[in-house]
Amino acid sequence: MERYLGAGANAVLYASGKEFGESLNLKSIDEIIKFCKDNKIGIVEVINEDLLRIRFYECITCAGLPKMDKTLCHFEGGFIAGCLEKILGKKVQVKETHCAGLGNDFCQFEVKVL
Ligand SMILES: [Zn+2]
Repeated sequence: MERYLGAGANAVLYASGKEFGESLNLKSIDEIIKFCKDNKIGIVEVINEDLLRIRFYECITCAGLPKMDKTLCHFEGGFIAGCLEKILGKKVQVKETHCAGLGNDFCQFEVKVL
């Protein structure tokens, strides 16, 4: 039961992050980086290989939290999705692949442009 409630809460966090990201009307990825830095959301590094990867160091949600075998940063994932959809004018899918909750030193999100 807790699992389902948990998933619901994550979806709410993702949706509110997305709404927040969209409302900022940022114009470029550089502006996302600057916004996150200025507002202490995290240090963002963009790794652009086969797909867009975004890393958050010192993530506001999970930095310093112990490993608990799950990703925690659904708000940030939604936030990235909201910002990028505005910038790219396309739907994107964001998945957190690294997180302090998984024992990593940073959070990493993979962005798939749909
Ligand atoms: Zn995280």
